Amino acid sequence: MKASITLKAITTAEKTTQTGIRTMTTVKNTFHGTEYKTRKTRQEIDALLNKPTYYRTASEKAFSRRCKSALCGIAGCECGNDIGERI
Ligand SMILES: [Zn+2]
Repeated sequence: MKASITLKAITTAEKTTQTGIRTMTTVKNTFHGTEYKTRKTRQEIDALLNKPTYYRTASEKAFSRRCKSALCGIAGCECGNDIGERI
């Protein structure tokens, strides 16, 4: 009986660890040939891009700025979208 309880605890711990792993997403800009790796998922990035600018949170705006400066960084350049991505 005690053994089964221990086994259940291990299973729960493994499950938590597996869901805790996040893969990196690479955002590319083919015009400049640059890449930016982020811990955000593709779905999270797409959700951010679909949001109007005035609804974005401070951290989302910071991410957009960071991503854009890493991918393009040229003032007035219209190569990519809001986060500097160009496929
Ligand atoms: Zn550019």
